[in-house]
Amino acid sequence: LVRVRGLSKRFGHHTVLDGIDLDVARGSVAVVLGPSGSGKSTLLRTVNHLEKPDAGFVEVNGEIIGYRRDGTRLRELSDRAITRQRSRIGMVFQQFNLFPHKTALENVLEGQLAAGVRRGPAEARGRELLDRVGLADKERSYPRQMSGGQQQRVAIARALAVEPELMLFDEPTSALDPEMVGEVLGVMKDLARTGMTMIVVTHEIGFAREVADQVVFLDEGRLVEAGTPDAVLTEPTHERARAFLSAVL
Ligand code: ATP
Ligand code: MG
Repeated sequence: LVRVRGLSKRFGHHTVLDGIDLDVARGSVAVVLGPSGSGKSTLLRTVNHLEKPDAGFVEVNGEIIGYRRDGTRLRELSDRAITRQRSRIGMVFQQFNLFPHKTALENVLEGQLAAGVRRGPAEARGRELLDRVGLADKERSYPRQMSGGQQQRVAIARALAVEPELMLFDEPTSALDPEMVGEVLGVMKDLARTGMTMIVVTHEIGFAREVADQVVFLDEGRLVEAGTPDAVLTEPTHERARAFLSAVL
């Protein structure tokens, strides 16, 4: 489903992504590991075209994100076309980014209403999704009335509301108290089981071992390890990956 080729991104003179190649098959889960500053968030943001690549491209379901092919060249898409592409990619951040003045249900509805779905069907789907993340009884609660784990589950429901074909998670449990990490990982595991294609940046090695089809390791913008969880987590070949894993395991 996802094909990343030669993806590079610079900020000024600093090369943050350096020729990344990555394939994520439909229905599979890729976990991205790497030290702070290695480019993990930038990689996700580039997949979603929140950052423009300096070289290379991201293809989702045969479409290049942000561009269209014109012969051998790539031409930039209109903002509207990019918004349409982005609407098929759900993203969940470390900070939940819910609207503080909206209830759980209204937060979940927001994307659907913006996409022109009528209120009735949108609400029905919103309730179904809150139920799926275990929050059927919280639809009228505001973010400040919910725990971090509950807010993050609302954020996941919101990302799912527009029926994305790909979900991106950027350290979704890093801002949570330890006792809430499990409930969010549980929702993500269920989602993986339903066949959702997912790219997950996380330091939760247990999740990677149990759920990932492939684990990749970024170091200074380069993808230095890629393979099955077993291969990468138990026998990393790259020195930085080995040091990183012995620190987090
Ligand atoms: P962390 O684990 O801390 O979240 P990360 O692997 O997600 O780190 P990125 O956030 O992708 O790393 O950042 C990679 C590098 O790019 C860092 O050195 C960061 O300072 C730099 N960077 C990221 N965004 C920008 C930006 N908008 N402008 C300039 N530099 C940036
Ligand atoms: Mg990051």
